[in-house]
Amino acid sequence: MQCGLSAEAIPASSLYECPRCGCDLASRPPRSYAEMEGLFDLPPDPAVEDARRRVNAEAAAARWLVVLLGVAGLSGGALAAAVMLAAR
Ligand SMILES: [Zn+2]
Repeated sequence: MQCGLSAEAIPASSLYECPRCGCDLASRPPRSYAEMEGLFDLPPDPAVEDARRRVNAEAAAARWLVVLLGVAGLSGGALAAAVMLAAR
């Protein structure tokens, strides 16, 4: 892990110690690149949280707008059909 030796090159008999550099493999569990960059240790950014809330609110408003426009379109169509049938 420290020296860059791939996991496939490490024999099963030395699972806890690197055969090349001798580093303790058990003391350094595998981590993702984001974890190694310390991205999960950062304090929460209020600007990012604010932007996330705003995007969520806009998405919810857009969904409701689609529902309202759909209901308005359906009721408008039904009203037009009723008027056309009554005009006969
Ligand atoms: Zn090593």
